[in-house]
Amino acid sequence: MTTTDFEYTEDFAQRMDDLDPLQHFRSMFHFPYVNGKEAIYFCGNSLGLQPKSVREYLDRELKNWELMAVDGHFHGEDAWYHVRKKSKPALAEIVGAHEHEVVAMNNLSSNLHFLMVSFYRPTKERYKIITEAGAFPSDMYMLETQVKFHGFDPADAIIEVAPRPGEYTIRTEDILAAIEDNQDELALVMMAGLQYYTGQVFDMEAITKAGHRVGIPVGFDLAHAAGNIPLQLHDWGVDFAAWCSYKYLNSGPGNISGIFVHERHADNTELPRFGGWWGHDEAIRFKMEKGFEPMYGADGWQLANSNVLSLAVHQASLDIFKDAGIERLRTKSELLTGYLEFLIRKVGVANGVLEIITPNNPKERGCQLSLLVHKGGKLVFDHLYANGVVGDWRHPNVIRVAPTPLYNSFTDVFRFAKILEHSLQKFA
Ligand SMILES: *Cc1c(COP(=O)(O)O)cnc(C)c1O
Repeated sequence: MTTTDFEYTEDFAQRMDDLDPLQHFRSMFHFPYVNGKEAIYFCGNSLGLQPKSVREYLDRELKNWELMAVDGHFHGEDAWYHVRKKSKPALAEIVGAHEHEVVAMNNLSSNLHFLMVSFYRPTKERYKIITEAGAFPSDMYMLETQVKFHGFDPADAIIEVAPRPGEYTIRTEDILAAIEDNQDELALVMMAGLQYYTGQVFDMEAITKAGHRVGIPVGFDLAHAAGNIPLQLHDWGVDFAAWCSYKYLNSGPGNISGIFVHERHADNTELPRFGGWWGHDEAIRFKMEKGFEPMYGADGWQLANSNVLSLAVHQASLDIFKDAGIERLRTKSELLTGYLEFLIRKVGVANGVLEIITPNNPKERGCQLSLLVHKGGKLVFDHLYANGVVGDWRHPNVIRVAPTPLYNSFTDVFRFAKILEHSLQKFA
């Protein structure tokens, strides 16, 4: 199947679904209802759907708590003391890491702050951070408050690489040039791996190598990348990264985050960090003595004891990812989003009403497409919603739609296009 074979017919979409080796995963999720009908859910970039298995995973831990109370920490095969280890194989596969390089803990914004304690170590000469212009607000606030914490002025210390005039996405060459040009003053590159607004995937490997050439660490916020695109954090040499579990990783609103710390930092006790007892060597943790000795790898960045109920929900979803497999998901995702692009071009781009600001090269995007609405704006979006399409609206005039390969179908994409065509006829 190539993109040139796509057809704008329900028959074609149905045939694609019949051929889809992942089609049975759809029935493992709860779909929300809009106006009494099951929604066309294209909002996994914001909040992934609930796996039906969540209740069972959660119940198991509630039962353990009910029956064992404090003994649950050390008794039984699910002993909470070791619970963090369960999510490691799946997380390592999802971000392309060794198991000791990843751990689930805290929330995303907290984790990036903790990681910057270790990896943003400015001096009087080298204190600047390179990031992408138009970053997600939490990331802007993180960087702003980090540089202020170290006594620098955000307007001077934060370098934002922007798209060129008339363009929507940022050129890799411009990011690399910014690193090169500012090398004497740089302390860190910290940016998104996949831009939340445009859906652009950055060349994380090239950016990491450029950062290392000028002697600084490179970290990525993978909120929109984890579970969406294949990642190879270890091989790319990325120093650190963090992500959330409630977007493509379907683990529930506000649920636990994950971090990656490259193996080269695994036993570097020279790195400053904010410690807590759960990052302390577990063999001697319960001696309750002074003197912080971090665990090897990402585990050494943990602070508090594991959030067992959060991890139970997370595990339900990670087990589904393990079964589906990142490569199979990616293969379907390229076709599914390719089909979406094909249909949007037919019904909205050809007549000049819509513009797709997400790169059209599949290597430079995940499943999300961001549509700039030239006419009709919010009316178009509201009409889509009234007809059962859950996407999202980003001020001032962008609609984001993200068909996820795990639970969306080609028929969803076809039905969306029909509704979009109708919305545009009505309002654009
Ligand atoms: C969703 C998202 C966040 C959210 O951060 P939380 O700490 O989970 O609230 C942060 N950064 C980016 C880039 C995001 O897309």
